[in-house]
Amino acid sequence: MTYTVEDITEMIHHHLVLSVDSDDQADSNLCQLVAHIAQLRTHPLLRDAEWWVCDTCGCSVESGVLAEDGSNFTADGGFYCSDCIPGRSNDS
Ligand SMILES: [Zn+2]
Repeated sequence: MTYTVEDITEMIHHHLVLSVDSDDQADSNLCQLVAHIAQLRTHPLLRDAEWWVCDTCGCSVESGVLAEDGSNFTADGGFYCSDCIPGRSNDS
């Protein structure tokens, strides 16, 4: 039998919140559970932000929004924001 997230949430609510003697104990149980669940993640919850500065206009760009084709970077190590990539028309 497979349990859904809703099923598991209901079990958590019953066993870790409703069946304990105090709100403090319930909060402690939930904190422990969250810590254990966080260790199950397959990808890090947080990552360090990485910023690039455009060689042309000087704006800062977070690495999470760069073009997937690598067109923000030049062969000699330069960097262009999406508005300044040579040859790209952004007039739409
Ligand atoms: Zn730029």
